[in-house]
Amino acid sequence: MKTISIVIPAYNEEESLPFLLDSLLALFEKKEYILEIIVIDDGSKDNTFDVVRKYNKVNNYIKGIKLSRNMGHQAALDCGLRHTIGDAVISMDADMQHPPEMIPKMLDLWENEDFEVVLTSKMENRDTGLFYMIWSKTFYSVFNKWSEVKLTPNGSDFRLMGRKSLDAILKMPEYHKFYRGLVHFVGFKTVTIPSHVDKRIAGTRSYTFSKSLRLASDGLFSFSNFALKLPFFFGLILLCIVIFYLAYVVIGMFAFNFQFVKGWPSTITLIILSMGLQLVFMGIIGLYIGKIFNEVKSRPQYFKDEEVGIGKTSD
Ligand code: UDP
Ligand code: MG
Repeated sequence: MKTISIVIPAYNEEESLPFLLDSLLALFEKKEYILEIIVIDDGSKDNTFDVVRKYNKVNNYIKGIKLSRNMGHQAALDCGLRHTIGDAVISMDADMQHPPEMIPKMLDLWENEDFEVVLTSKMENRDTGLFYMIWSKTFYSVFNKWSEVKLTPNGSDFRLMGRKSLDAILKMPEYHKFYRGLVHFVGFKTVTIPSHVDKRIAGTRSYTFSKSLRLASDGLFSFSNFALKLPFFFGLILLCIVIFYLAYVVIGMFAFNFQFVKGWPSTITLIILSMGLQLVFMGIIGLYIGKIFNEVKSRPQYFKDEEVGIGKTSD
């Protein structure tokens, strides 16, 4: 029998988590697979971990890892994935926005059609407004234009990975993990299926705009060096402006007898142009140095506070 691991990062999800765990238990009732469910409590302020403890008492393969503080969704996900032993690993949110009914279809594609990675793309997200829709559309189009690795538009962290692809991803030591990009980066036979996104069942969205901005910039700057090219294009545009301006001054003076205060317009323009250029270059270099700094420090991404049931499966 094959082993399936389910990884659930949860931040303040005491109300939603029981619904998800109950529906997962119902889904795997037939015992066609050996099962393990790992909930990562990402420093919740509510009783999320107590929920895990309660479920663990009845089913010891429902396990939990409590992080020492809120480390962010991607770090919690990373921690969970590292503790799995399954032949296939499914990651999903705790708030029932990732419909568990999709899981049999994902398992079928993995087991019977040999797909190593099964991704889902969001059909619609009933929990987010127009602003997020525009933001997400812009992100995916910018990312796919500039990066060598192409992302599935409207991708989500609801996915199945086979052991081979997961091990490949976990081998990468980088600090700024961007799983949505890494699954494409490692390759393997991949399929994407559409999935609807329900309203979250309880609680509030904790992926604030600043968190999703950080995710987007981690993705963008880890997967492409497009920002390095920006100063070059800025420089070219500014050079063109200078050339046109000089042409205007020279032709104006000689052909049309325009009167300029000697040296004034050109001096001011050149000073501002060179200042702007330098600032842009410095800013960009700073961004990259910031990333190098984080990688060089190679700090652990998370710290475990408590564990229950790790190492147990449903068999
Ligand atoms: N989450 C987490 N740490 C965080 C923020 C979110 O583990 O700092 C979890 C959260 O509990 C949920 C999933 O990540 O299971 C997605 O978060 P959320 O529902 O807030 O984001 P959205 O689905 O709106 O993108
Ligand atoms: Mg959600």
